[in-house]
Amino acid sequence: MARATSAIARVAPEVAAAYEPVIGLEVHAQLKTATKIFCACSTRFGDPPNTNTCPVCLGLPGSLPVLNKRALELALRASLALNLRVQQDSRFARKNYFYPDLPKGYQISMYELPLATHGWLELEHDGATKKIGITRLHLEEDAAKNIHEGFPDSDRNSYIDYNRCGMPLAEIVSEPDLRSPAEAYAYLSALKQVLEYADVSDCNMEEGSLRCDANVSVRRRGDQRFGTKTEVKNLNSFRYLQRALEYEIERHISVLESGGRISQETRLWNVAEGRSESMRSKEFAHDYRYFPDPDLLPVHVSMSSLAEIQRDTPELPAARRRRFVQEHGLSAYDAGVLTATRALGDYFEAVVSAGGPPKTAASWIQTELLRRLNDSGQPVEASPLAPKALAGLLAQVEAGNITGASGKKVFAAMFETGKSAEEIVSAQGLAQIQDTAEIERMCQASEFRDAKPQFDKFSAVILGCSGDSVPTQAKFAAKYNLNFPLLSDPEFKAIEAYGARRMKQFLGKSFLGIVRSTFLIGPDGRIAKIWDKAPSKGHAAEVLEAVKQL
Ligand SMILES: [Zn+2]
Repeated sequence: MARATSAIARVAPEVAAAYEPVIGLEVHAQLKTATKIFCACSTRFGDPPNTNTCPVCLGLPGSLPVLNKRALELALRASLALNLRVQQDSRFARKNYFYPDLPKGYQISMYELPLATHGWLELEHDGATKKIGITRLHLEEDAAKNIHEGFPDSDRNSYIDYNRCGMPLAEIVSEPDLRSPAEAYAYLSALKQVLEYADVSDCNMEEGSLRCDANVSVRRRGDQRFGTKTEVKNLNSFRYLQRALEYEIERHISVLESGGRISQETRLWNVAEGRSESMRSKEFAHDYRYFPDPDLLPVHVSMSSLAEIQRDTPELPAARRRRFVQEHGLSAYDAGVLTATRALGDYFEAVVSAGGPPKTAASWIQTELLRRLNDSGQPVEASPLAPKALAGLLAQVEAGNITGASGKKVFAAMFETGKSAEEIVSAQGLAQIQDTAEIERMCQASEFRDAKPQFDKFSAVILGCSGDSVPTQAKFAAKYNLNFPLLSDPEFKAIEAYGARRMKQFLGKSFLGIVRSTFLIGPDGRIAKIWDKAPSKGHAAEVLEAVKQL
């Protein structure tokens, strides 16, 4: 079993800079089928151990495998989505090795004739677009799951769950084209995105439907030859992948710098210790004594069936990004964010088709929706705010019935209660009052008249208002030591209707930040003048002139 490796010497950044990492990933994606690849057992996750088994997946003598047609279709769909050339003829092979999780003593995989070869995946990293080669994609069966912990006798015994034995996998092998852990991370993200969009795998890393091994080596910059590589297994999260690669690259450089040699081996990422450990010396293909599986027919893929699969493949992320830019006028950045997952892209499109203006919808989804989903730990599929409801809210904001600021309050209430925008707007009295006479009437309300003695000191009061709450107004008045008539809720809502912001100073002090609307309130406590959409500069002189004429 794993041998602990002594701590590696830290490598100085200038030493590390002289080396170039070379990385290739082998990704196993579990295909979304109802049954296993060679038998009719269920693929359901989380069933009691060893309940989804039969003579075929248990490897009992005399049983015969039959290829699951759906698994082949999904693997072909993945191949096309990854720009791979599908081989008309491919063949299953037996990969022989002994391990308790493999009851037959061999794994059915593909070897010399894989399903598809010579593909590529485009990824965006560090502001640049790069094509990463994909060597091959082949079908294989998964092994059972060894469970070494969680039982009272786990210190002595291991348990095996054969439910996983025979799950359909697509193994996707990249070329050694990746040059940094961050690039490997970007590749895995892009690959996961394509597989999810193509609907071939749910790519659930917690449930093990997407697993990753990495081949890594380093060479001096400028060298053409690759260094000796090691394979790191058990990289079942994006974070582990990046950490393990960073660790392993540093280990390689440290060994080479101290005059040592890297031995070709398979290593295991020890999550708890944060280091890789030697697992076994790397096996070579001949160790597995591959030979064609005599129990399975060769796989023949006709051009017509391939065309049919191509036709049934859902839109892929790159095409969707392009379409969002062209059809909805989004920026490339917004299109990238909104297509991050298929579900998010679907949500955006549902808002638009329910009448939401695309650019506004894009902005609200990225700020309000994603932030709240993130805070509540919910996926977009489970959003309490349905696309149609968001479209309804955006329509109210667009029509000027409520301000953007109120809209965000309404959004929060909708997210929490699941009620419609209309219900919340009317319940909370957030509708803007568009009638100027009504605003004047409200601004002449009692509090203004009650504050009249204070007004008299100034002869006039000028207010630029926002929808600040009474406590905020009080704080502001205290800060500037002002006799400030506090506006009640209905009053400031009325003034908010003009989108006004409070000016920073009263008459007699410097005028700062008079924006949008200014209300000049005369000594009688009545609004003497309103400047709607007041200019941000040169407005003070105009206001002073009006004060003089009162
Ligand atoms: Zn079975």
